[in-house]
Amino acid sequence: IEHMFQVQRQFNSDVAHELRTPVAVVLAQCEYISEKKPSLEDYQEFAEVIERQTRKTNEIIEKLLNLSRMEQGRIKVQYEMVNLQDLLQVICEDEQEKSGENLHISFKLEPIEAYIDIQLMTILVHNLIDNAVKYSGNDVKIEVGTRHTLPYCRTGSRQVENKIRLWVMDHGCGISKIDQKNIFQPFYRSEKSRNSKGIGLGLSLVQRIAELHGGKIQVESELGKGSTFTLILPVKKEV
Ligand code: ADP
Repeated sequence: IEHMFQVQRQFNSDVAHELRTPVAVVLAQCEYISEKKPSLEDYQEFAEVIERQTRKTNEIIEKLLNLSRMEQGRIKVQYEMVNLQDLLQVICEDEQEKSGENLHISFKLEPIEAYIDIQLMTILVHNLIDNAVKYSGNDVKIEVGTRHTLPYCRTGSRQVENKIRLWVMDHGCGISKIDQKNIFQPFYRSEKSRNSKGIGLGLSLVQRIAELHGGKIQVESELGKGSTFTLILPVKKEV
């Protein structure tokens, strides 16, 4: 119980901390504008800063709301049979448009139909690809793949592995063993990534979405070599 309180206290303090910075910037800009009456050109610059910081605040609030809805079971998973190959192609086209020529995506896709919530799964995959891009430097090479691992037999005992695997692999900065244990906690960011854009909520959402589907998310990574995030889903039949 003490640990739970500790986690809650830490979470509240992280939320306050993350929101305080952009709000302080917006306040400072507004105060400056009303005191100094800057020129029209400067106004433009102030407006851009305010817009950027307000967008950041909005992103934090949106992600927190989504997380809290999921925690409280207030998000109903809308299952439907989806062709994973098609869904991933569409998501990757979006990502390609966002990142341009610096991003090279290769595919290892099996033709798989999965019983999933399209919207939630789209959020999950976007988060994984966004991270792969963000933590890869300039020339980004990633692999997106799916595989259906079927039940197989071992001498004497039957091993059941009827799962769908979906992975995003990058050749970016990699994640240390210690960080790998913490990156799924809200607001956790590794020391090295603090300078890049982000708020540390993406992987918490990814993990929650995986769990809502009865699945889990795994990370394999080596510093300086890259990372692979794999979603493992149970095979569900349409009801
Ligand atoms: P954000 O990217 O906004 O910081 P996330 O919750 O998505 O938040 O990720 C948490 C942390 O995990 C990141 O700050 C980064 O340190 C690490 N991380 C996530 N994905 C990768 C990746 N593909 N390569 C290297 N580090 C990663």
